[in-house]
Amino acid sequence: MKRLDLTDTIAAISTGLGESGIGIVRLSGKEALSIAEKIFLSKNGRRPSGYKTFTTHYGWVVEDMTTKKIIDEVILTVMRAPKSYTKEDIVEINCHGGIVALRRILALVLENGCRLAQPGEFTKRAFMNGRIDLAQAEAVLDVIKAKTDAALRNSVEQLKGALSKELNAIRGILLELSSILEASIDFPEEEMGQTDTAQLKEELKKVEARLEKLLLGSRFGRIFREGIRVVICGRTNVGKSSLLNALLRQERSIVTPIAGTTRDTVEETINIRGVPVMIADTAGITKPDNLAERKAIERSRRYIEAAQLVLLVFDGSQRLRREDLGLMRRLKHKPVLAVLNKIDLIQRIEHKQIEKRFIRLVEVSAKKAKNISLLEDALVERVCRGDLLPQEPILVTNLRHLEDIKEMQKLIAEAINSLDNNTALPLEFIAQDIKDALRYLDDILGLNCSEDLLDRIFSAFCIGK
Ligand code: GDP
Repeated sequence: MKRLDLTDTIAAISTGLGESGIGIVRLSGKEALSIAEKIFLSKNGRRPSGYKTFTTHYGWVVEDMTTKKIIDEVILTVMRAPKSYTKEDIVEINCHGGIVALRRILALVLENGCRLAQPGEFTKRAFMNGRIDLAQAEAVLDVIKAKTDAALRNSVEQLKGALSKELNAIRGILLELSSILEASIDFPEEEMGQTDTAQLKEELKKVEARLEKLLLGSRFGRIFREGIRVVICGRTNVGKSSLLNALLRQERSIVTPIAGTTRDTVEETINIRGVPVMIADTAGITKPDNLAERKAIERSRRYIEAAQLVLLVFDGSQRLRREDLGLMRRLKHKPVLAVLNKIDLIQRIEHKQIEKRFIRLVEVSAKKAKNISLLEDALVERVCRGDLLPQEPILVTNLRHLEDIKEMQKLIAEAINSLDNNTALPLEFIAQDIKDALRYLDDILGLNCSEDLLDRIFSAFCIGK
């Protein structure tokens, strides 16, 4: 991506490119209103350059003002600088959602002086113009990509600045500590006394604890954002498909199917307590009879390999069979949640033998939809490794932020360690650790960060955002 030019006026189609009720062409920049004026004919004859901010106007987009040939009937919205998404003048043209209308209107504004926006450029401008920081800009992307309500809520919180606020608070403390340290380095006669050192350590420990909390939140954050892969295994007829159906019925909010999955292995994404769970019902992995079966088994193996959790299903109404034992052995190295199905029937299974092997055994009836919520609880609990979700945590979902926070934590721990050991390490070392930590923090917020980093982040956006 070329160095960003903030002086020109950009335009792009901001809505998805399928047939839809409406579509939006968005313009941002100094000339947004004057360019709109060349193509917009309002019903009441008033001209865009006179429109007040946050007003909408009904009219037509026309090819030019002499022929007045109509391209589409539209609503035009004006948001003037600085109170707009980009902090620049913005014009949004709401037209009909057909691809032809959208493209014609875009072409028209380009002909009249707009430049086609780069991917994410509207958001990048919001960042460059200081309306949001980098962490918030990235949250925009997360909002767009959110797969569940919980993921969406979390991204919106981040967009509102929950993470940024916490990081800025930490930044304030570190900056202050840094300047205290610099002062004692510059004026050794005002050397830090015992109480000062103790206080410094105290403050650093508080920072460390806050970083720790962010890291704890991140584990849940990633689960919410990326979801988890679960496969249902078990020999034929134990009730795998029935179980998948029971889970699907329980959570009617089926999320979008994962692109590129084959239908031979049924895979669905369901929302369990806010966690997107990609769940697959696999073919048995016993001996294949023919080529098709062999392929199905191979696929199941791959699914199992990729899964973070296996639901191993048993038929409670029957004694354990060799295939059951074989599967138990084969899945020894995977995290397994044992599911004992068909509890509505008389139980014949060797309960003890399963209990011995697995930490957790959930008894259900897929057919009668019994205990399915218990299974869901157990599933989410397993995934979160027994930890309860923190109350209203700040969920760091972005891998880049996470890595930077980890580095910060390391540096702060080192600084504390130096103070702890009383190794008489020169204060310069501690000051340097804090400075380095601040650098990572600034990277998250996008303060003084490199053009490269910005390019990498914004290239993940689509055009029009
Ligand atoms: P799969 O081969 O493991 O996918 O098993 P299916 O889901 O096709 O189920 C095999 C048979 O067991 C079907 O006849 C189901 O109706 C029956 N079944 C599944 N779950 C239950 C259950 O909880 N109770 C009872 N009584 N029958 C069940």
